[in-house]
Amino acid sequence: MDDTYDIDAQANYEGLKFCPRCAAELEERESRSHRRLICTNCSYIFYMAPAAVTCVLAEQDGKLLFVLRRYEPGKGKWCLPAGFLEAGEQPDASAAREVKEETGLDVEITGIYDTWATDEDPRTPVVSIAFTARVTGGELAAGDDAAAAVFFDMGDLPEPIAFADHRRIVRTYIEKSRRG
Ligand SMILES: [Zn+2]
Repeated sequence: MDDTYDIDAQANYEGLKFCPRCAAELEERESRSHRRLICTNCSYIFYMAPAAVTCVLAEQDGKLLFVLRRYEPGKGKWCLPAGFLEAGEQPDASAAREVKEETGLDVEITGIYDTWATDEDPRTPVVSIAFTARVTGGELAAGDDAAAAVFFDMGDLPEPIAFADHRRIVRTYIEKSRRG
């Protein structure tokens, strides 16, 4: 798998024309070995920083919790319960909140599993933070942007799974659990 990705492919970067501070035109320039959009008037630098996304590996009786995506990107595909980290929110709390909203289940976050950056979301480059979690309560019921919420046997995963980072996280998690 590629270790890098190309932010120039991001539509929202290419579509930016004006400075959010002073409304003068932005121009693309080299800055500290990165090409960046910089304001021609006030020198404001638009940093194309990735957005943080959390996802959760909630395992129960050898099965892993997935949600069916109701909206694009990845509409009609399966993925781990996931969502954007909001400003002011701790990543573990954000992860547990997304599980509750999308699946109805309460979880206790038990650890950080992995992180991975991708450009597969057309809205923004993202860095995913994957947590492991234990189900502590609630009733399984799809909600928010999930059309379904289902535990799948780790030997019989749903298809297709959206997002390269989720596919990688699920694959390595299952490989590790098989090795014990
Ligand atoms: Zn400006």
